[in-house]
Amino acid sequence: MANKSLRPLSEMEQSRFWEKVRKGKLNECWPWIGATTDKGYGYCYPHGAAGGRYRSHRIAFFIATGVDPGSFAATHSCDNRACANPAHVIPSTQTINLANMRAKGRDYQFLVKTGEDAPHAKLSDKEVAEIRRLAGTSDENGYWSERRLAARYRIAHSQIHRILRGQSRTAHQ
Ligand SMILES: [Zn+2]
Repeated sequence: MANKSLRPLSEMEQSRFWEKVRKGKLNECWPWIGATTDKGYGYCYPHGAAGGRYRSHRIAFFIATGVDPGSFAATHSCDNRACANPAHVIPSTQTINLANMRAKGRDYQFLVKTGEDAPHAKLSDKEVAEIRRLAGTSDENGYWSERRLAARYRIAHSQIHRILRGQSRTAHQ
């Protein structure tokens, strides 16, 4: 896999990339239908063969956020190596900080582009504020992990993750 940083993809390179992704809802896996490594990771050559080979979930996250998570820094929250849903990519803490800085005041591009009717759009502003307040605290029943919050508010774990990363929900409403 190429170790050098990704360059921004042109519109054409982006649409060629998404052609190999079976997009679903934000809380679903988006199967990569292009080539995969023997370990099961999707890969492609976003800038053509001479531009080097990159893992598809890395490219998906890069297109969605404008931040390159690096060659080995990103894992999948869904444990599905061939998944190219940027919302299922868990980048390193350093990458999250960078993405948050760049995302200030706007939503991640992929949320806008998919026009997703994400379940978390059903949350009220009050509930979102509650989630942000509870996260990381504890009560008599234990620690408010992302997983526990997801169960309490009946939304996908990845959506709790996004709310806590500070992305706005306005694109869904
Ligand atoms: Zn997935």
